[in-house]
Amino acid sequence: DYALYYAKAHSRGGAVLFTEEHERLLRTQSVIEQALRHADLAREMSLVFQPIVDVRRGGTVAFEALARWTSPELGPISPAVFVPIAERSGLITRITAVLLGQALAAARAWPDRVALSFNLSMADIASPQAAAGIVAAIRASGLALGRVILEVTETALIQDVAQAQTVLETLKASGIAIALDDFGTGYSSLSYVHRLPLDKLKIDRSFVSEVTTDPASRDIITSIAALARNLRLDCVVEGIETGEQARLLEGLGFVLMQGYHFHRPMGFCDTLRYLDAEAVRAIRPVQAVA
Ligand code: C2E
Ligand code: MG
Ligand code: MG
Ligand code: MG
Repeated sequence: DYALYYAKAHSRGGAVLFTEEHERLLRTQSVIEQALRHADLAREMSLVFQPIVDVRRGGTVAFEALARWTSPELGPISPAVFVPIAERSGLITRITAVLLGQALAAARAWPDRVALSFNLSMADIASPQAAAGIVAAIRASGLALGRVILEVTETALIQDVAQAQTVLETLKASGIAIALDDFGTGYSSLSYVHRLPLDKLKIDRSFVSEVTTDPASRDIITSIAALARNLRLDCVVEGIETGEQARLLEGLGFVLMQGYHFHRPMGFCDTLRYLDAEAVRAIRPVQAVA
């Protein structure tokens, strides 16, 4: 996986540096780690934003902020690659701080009804102090805490459920909402999901990709929806790529959706244009298309 991303990053130049040897892979990781260590984070890191849509009301209720890193030496590197490396090498906290600053600045330009959904890593919530730092950064930005959703993955929480519980309670007490990301892909979600102070479940896109063709996927998604209802959690379905998937999921009762079918992640300026266009559509819903 890493080697493939590395190859992609280099293939623009023509020559593809690619081998599947393990040793090479490790070297790739350490190359990325070194580049990350010396990166000018404020310049090299940026965010794109993907709408989370309420299909019943019609309209964007939040944007998820997604990190993008373009290294001067290595080119663009996916967050799926660099985030785990940054986590292992202790660099993630600095990266999170930079990205959170950018995300809060962006969100302040959106209308009040639009929330910011921001991804956190395990290290970001590893201690009550770390969590307090995040709350302080949001407070300092002037963005209402009620407009912030923090997305955490199961793998981040499972390490120490008691600790996670304490930290999440602190975040929640300040008015921030908590979403459990990639739900269904972890080991033992069901054994602790009811113990955590969550507001939302984000159903992983791996269930969605087969929902129109595989009855088992549909059953799993339906069960997750029932679980969410019982726990009084909102459900966001991610990775919806086709109208067929969206219609089927809407038929199953899902309301909050995210995916390429609605919109791909976009740059900050495009979020403003997108929200404007949406507002115009809301005012004139039956505008005929010429
Ligand atoms: P995630 O939080 O589950 O984000 C959703 C990922 O799915 C994003 O990939 C998004 O671009 C992609 N996606 C959205 N809709 C579709 C779709 O319809 N089809 C497909 N195939 N993909 C879709 P991305 O941006 O590459 O991010 C990958 C992961 O990296 C994220 O998964 C998240 O775990 C992590 N990540 C991204 N940004 C950050 C960040 O700022 N901080 C931390 N800690 N992790 C981040
Ligand atoms: Mg996420
Ligand atoms: Mg996810
Ligand atoms: Mg994911």
